[in-house]
Amino acid sequence: MEPLQRITRRQLDALRSIARGPARGRGVPLNSIARALGVKAPSALAHLGPLEELGLITRSRGKSLVTRQGFACLDEYVRHHRVAESLFARAGLAADATHEAALEVDLALSHRTVQVLCEAEGHPSICPHGHPIAPCAPGPAAGRRGGGRR
Ligand SMILES: [Zn+2]
Ligand SMILES: [Zn+2]
Repeated sequence: MEPLQRITRRQLDALRSIARGPARGRGVPLNSIARALGVKAPSALAHLGPLEELGLITRSRGKSLVTRQGFACLDEYVRHHRVAESLFARAGLAADATHEAALEVDLALSHRTVQVLCEAEGHPSICPHGHPIAPCAPGPAAGRRGGGRR
């Protein structure tokens, strides 16, 4: 399973709060992560273990840093979310409602499935809110029907 399918919403929130933290290389202290999540430090700490095990963050001297895989995972998350939003918009949901609907599925979908949806939607370049959707990464699904557009 891909990292996104293995993390919880709260772990994703923790990862995002670390990514938003102080400039590169300095690391984010536990109490800042806890504050961003609105929980006490021990609860925040419980989210960091799984992120570290998946190689999405590294921790040293009490500070957390997002790894290259972690940033790639966040980019993929945004892509999953916006492709799902586009799908729900096409299915008839108002733009405002697509965000909530996408939250129900964005962590569960595999990259391959997202790619299939993206292809079915004609590779939208923006979500219903006008935010950019990164082009499909080349992968197994891309050539599925004889080398479709990426
Ligand atoms: Zn695409
Ligand atoms: Zn959007």
